[in-house]
Parts: sequence; C-alpha cells; structure tokens
Amino acid sequence: MDQTDRDLDDHYDVLIIGAGISGIDAAYHLQKSRPGTRFVMIERMPDFGGTWRTHKFPGIRSDSDLFTFGFKWKPWTGLPIAKADQILSYLDEALDENDLRRHIRYSTDLLSASWSYDTQNWTVTLRCGDDETPVTLTCKFLWMCAGYYNHNDAYTPEWPGMAQFGGTIVHPQTWPNDLDHAGKKVVVIGSGATAATIIPAMTKTAAHVTMLQRSPTYFFPKPMIDEFGETLRALELSDDMYHDIMRRKFLFESKNTVRRSREEPKALAAELIGAAAKYLGEGFDVATHFTPRYRPWRQRIAMIPDGDLFVAIRDGKASVVTNKIEKFTKTGILLETGKQLEADIIVTATGFNLNVLGDIAFDVDGIPLDLSQSVTHRGVMFTGLPNLVSVFGYLRSSWTLRADLVSDYVCRMLTYMDEKGVRSVVPVVPEQDQDMKISPWIDPENFNAGYVMRSLDILPRQGDRQPWVMTQDYFSDRETMPAADLGDGTLVYR
Ligand SMILES: Cc1cc2nc3c(=O)[nH]c(=O)nc-3n(C[C@H](O)[C@H](O)[C@H](O)COP(=O)(O)OP(=O)(O)OC[C@H]3O[C@@H](n4cnc5c(N)ncnc54)[C@H](O)[C@@H]3O)c2cc1C
Repeated sequence: MDQTDRDLDDHYDVLIIGAGISGIDAAYHLQKSRPGTRFVMIERMPDFGGTWRTHKFPGIRSDSDLFTFGFKWKPWTGLPIAKADQILSYLDEALDENDLRRHIRYSTDLLSASWSYDTQNWTVTLRCGDDETPVTLTCKFLWMCAGYYNHNDAYTPEWPGMAQFGGTIVHPQTWPNDLDHAGKKVVVIGSGATAATIIPAMTKTAAHVTMLQRSPTYFFPKPMIDEFGETLRALELSDDMYHDIMRRKFLFESKNTVRRSREEPKALAAELIGAAAKYLGEGFDVATHFTPRYRPWRQRIAMIPDGDLFVAIRDGKASVVTNKIEKFTKTGILLETGKQLEADIIVTATGFNLNVLGDIAFDVDGIPLDLSQSVTHRGVMFTGLPNLVSVFGYLRSSWTLRADLVSDYVCRMLTYMDEKGVRSVVPVVPEQDQDMKISPWIDPENFNAGYVMRSLDILPRQGDRQPWVMTQDYFSDRETMPAADLGDGTLVYR
C-alpha cells in the first residue's frame, strides 16, 4: 500500500528526491547493496513515473530503446520503443517485485535543504500535500533524482500576437485531457523527438498537421519490430538472456554511431538523411527540410519507429515548413516569408526549462549555495556541497544507463564511508588541479540542444580532467566509474 506524507520519520540515512525512473533505480540499489539503510523517496506528484506521468500528449513514447532505457536489473522483453503506459507498467512491476512502494511518500515536495558541518546532517523542509505547515526532518545524505527539467513550467517562447490567436495553444507538457483535435488544422512548432511523436499520432484524426521548424533535425527511422529481436524471441531464451543480448545489440549500435559521428560525420549524416529521403519519396525537398546544419550527435537523435513521421508527410496527412515565425494572427501563424499557416490548434513543442537539482534552495552552514559556481565531480557531486549526489543521465544515450552507474557508485561511496568511520564527503579541487580550465556543464561543441544552451549559466561547471568532467559518454563512464578511487584526495571526508 502507498504511504502518505504523515508516515515520515524524523531522521533518515538517505533521502531520495523524485520517484521517476532514476529515483526507483536509486531505491533498488540502496535496498539491494545496503540493506538496513533507512531511506525514503519523496515525490512531489501523487504517483510514481516522473516524465511518463507528466506527459500525456498523443502518441507519447520513448525515443530510445527500452533495453537500454530500462533497468539493467529488470528485463525488458517488449518492442524496442515503448508507449508511456507500457513504461509506467514496467516501473509499477519494478516497485512491486522489489517491495519498494513502502519507501515512497507522494505529494511531498522538497522545498529547501540546509547542511550543518556541526551535526553532519541535512535539515530539509518539505511540503506535504495541501498542508500549509512545512515538515522538517534530518537526513545524512541527499540523493537528487529530480530529473533535468521543471515539470510545472514548460518552455514556450513569447511570439508577437499570441494573445490574438483565436484557437487553442497547447504545450506537450500540459496537454489537456479534453482537447479534441479530430478534424482540426494543427500546427506543431518544433522538430525534436516530441514533435516527431505528436505529429504522426495527431494525423490519425486531425484534418492536417503541419510541422513548423526553424531548422531541420536528424532522425533514426527504424523498424518497430526488430528483426534480430524476433529471431532471438523464437529461440525461447530466458527473459534475462533476451534482455541482455538486446541491450548489447543496442549499445553496440549506439557506440558505432558515436564513433562514426566523430570519424566520418559526413557519411553518417548522408546515411540518416538518405533514410529519411527513402521514406519521403521522390520529389520531396529533403535538402530544405531534413538536412541539418550541424554534425550528427550534437543533439539527441530520436528513433522514429517505421519512419511514421515521414510516412505521415509522404501520405499528405502532415507537411513540413522550415521558416521563422513573424507573428501569431487570429487564425494561425504568419511566417517571415509572408505565408500564413491556418490553424485551429497550435502545439508549442518548444522544450523545457531546465531544472538544476530540483530548483531547491540549498545552504551550507547558513551560506546560500550558488551552484553555477560549483565544479562537478564525475557529474555526480559538486564542490561546496557535502553529502549530496545527483543523477543527471545521458542526453544522447538512454538516461538510465547513467542512473545505473551512478547508483552503483553512490552505494560504493556510502559503504566506503562506513568502513572509514566518516560522516561527510565533499569534493575539493586539490592544489595540482587548481589551474585546470573550467568549462560549462556541457560543451556546446559536443552537444548543443536549445534547452541546455538556454541554461548553461545556471548549471554547475566542469574541469578539463577527471574526476572533474561530466563525460556524457557511457562507454568511458562504464570503465572509469566502477574503478574510481574514492580515496584519491579529490573527495574530502570528515
Ligand atoms: C517526452 C519525453 C520523452 C523522453 N524519452 C526519453 C527516452 O526515450 N530515453 C531517454 O533516455 N530519455 C528520455 N527522456 C528524458 C527523460 O526525462 C529521462 O530519460 C527520464 O525519464 C528521467 O527520469 P528521472 O527519474 O531522472 O526524472 P523525471 O522523470 O523528470 O522525474 C523526476 C521526478 O522528481 C520529482 N521532483 C522534482 N523535484 C522535486 C522536489 N523538489 N520534491 C519532490 N519531488 C521532486 C518530479 O515530480 C518527478 O517525478 C524523455 C523526456 C521527455 C520529456
């Protein structure tokens, strides 16, 4: 049975913030590797699932495969791309099978956290349900699994004339349950994974859907049914074996793509663009609409099952316009070219506002923390912030690959601290690394998605050598993180 906020203790060893895929992963590892640890998972929403609970837009599905987006420890045996409800069922099973539900407190919001070196504890303030009076409790360790974007505040740019538009403007993050798009003219602004999902889904009943993009994006059209996976299925392997082989297959493909994006970006780009062109058919202006100006992998490449976005365009149910918006009008959108797009519904698939550590006010011994001045330690901890770890997954590979690595790393660190008989740990840049070059959290040359670029100034920074680098590279992290020396002098214990 789910617990309510009223079942909170006064003190915990670990407080996990967020019951999305990362929070569930953290709880699983903590319970398995450190039985006896007193922990609780705090979740603002009234249910688990995070991203997969928040988003309710038509067609909502993963854009990476579930063999790598799913947990290493719970086999996924479905098709590679999954709908939100399938992901929620998978997470539901993970909670049940591991008896994790009893650790979650829903409708409970972490508001602030104050660290004291005197008591070697965090004192946290929580809002529980509708109760106006905040609850205070202490914990030794904060494990932030709050995701990377603000669930309550989507990003919608301000365009001139928006208020005059006579139809409905909707953001994918706040999709109204009662929005009926049947027979309507729809314009979707954006060309990321969300737009690519919504467009084919809406074309099923809409009169027409137009994708309006400022500039083109790469996509991976792939068969929904993986032929190799189906051959394996026929061999009647155990679920564990099936998942393991499929995970290796998708990792191998992903590694190959990363390598090719570095070694032969032009060939990779030509292949991706060519795959789109094949679906779109002869005469389609691929050069204008599906030939990106950046090299592949500088933004996440969404998988398009059976090329459904391209099929919708080829069949005339959807179209694509690559242009800038001059203004909204009463009946649609006026483009810079002077062309007008008529619309009943405008979907602003324009992305997120980034969230940094849950957008919580932290202080250390009474001094407010400015996270933008911190340097990250392996993308997990931050200088000036003791006993706090954070899960920031991969933006190009499956997020959970990193959540799993971080979970193992954190459990190892907690056990190391017990063995040393210490109560706090904080990263400190040692003398010999003081001169290192400090760069943004994500190198724009390496990854330049708009939602990251908009928020670089509020994100922590990174150095030019380990352990001060957030690699965004699973294949190096999976070697370095399990082997990382916790006593190398960059972590100061007390
Ligand atoms: C539409 C969409 C599709 C995506 N598809 C993929 C994909 O296919 N593959 C992939 O790798 N990634 C994908 N992502 C990225 C995705 O967000 C992550 O992969 C993953 O779901 C993140 O899980 P999480 O648990 O870390 O964070 P979230 O899912 O964001 O969950 C964080 C949780 O923390 C809670 N929380 C936050 N702050 C507080 C607080 N102060 N107090 C209490 N609770 C708090 C939130 O309510 C939320 O439930 C997608 C994102 C979106 C929006």
